[in-house]
Amino acid sequence: CGIVGYVGATGGNDAIDVVLDGLSALEYRGYDSAGVAIPTPEMTVSKAAGELSALEETVSRDELAGESVGIGHTRWSTHGAPSDDNAHPHCDEAGRVAVVHNGIIENYQRLRDDLVEAGVAFRSETDTEVVPHLIGRYLDRGADPEEAFRLAVDHLEGSYAIAAVVEGSETVYAARQDSPLVVGLGDRGTYLASDVPAFVEHTDRVRYLEDGDIARLSADSAVVTDAEGRRVDRATDTVAWDA
Ligand code: GLU
Repeated sequence: CGIVGYVGATGGNDAIDVVLDGLSALEYRGYDSAGVAIPTPEMTVSKAAGELSALEETVSRDELAGESVGIGHTRWSTHGAPSDDNAHPHCDEAGRVAVVHNGIIENYQRLRDDLVEAGVAFRSETDTEVVPHLIGRYLDRGADPEEAFRLAVDHLEGSYAIAAVVEGSETVYAARQDSPLVVGLGDRGTYLASDVPAFVEHTDRVRYLEDGDIARLSADSAVVTDAEGRRVDRATDTVAWDA
């Protein structure tokens, strides 16, 4: 339901604070569970069914402080009951990749059956969990993270706004199809959200992603490409927003 991502510049904010504050700014949209992933120095995922306050209790801000990259999610369940295990982010088996997703992956059952047949053990009942496992399999075959993300997204049918992080990397990958995603370009880093209120206190310079877009966010840029990896230009707008 709600997505937040952040890659901080040197001297930027703590990712865990930006992500949790962003999720709280999206609470008005409704949700039944929430979670965060901080991929540096190693992947840490924390999630909980219920209110954001339940997540805030399980997340040790102190322990996660000082990191510059993170993603977060508030979930409105469509596949799988509201539970800690079904809350996003979801990971691959090796725990290298964490993914959050808004929308519905219509062909998830077939993708899941194929992955299970290949020996993958699932930990949730969500449609979303196929995504980190697909990314993981492409990483296993030697793809770099951006290529692995692009190849995984290429399998998906349905509606999605997706954000992914990879262990040890100060990058957030994003993709959208029939579900909104917007990039925020700030002096202290680059933001990603399903809706502008998540980061409007940090920047009013935005770049709306369009269907089929794949984006790679780093501390000082957001590069947008299509399914084949060709650069596409998305205009930078200034939002007038009464925060
Ligand atoms: N279909 C996904 C799930 O049920 C995402 C739902 C959402 O948009 O929050 O976990």
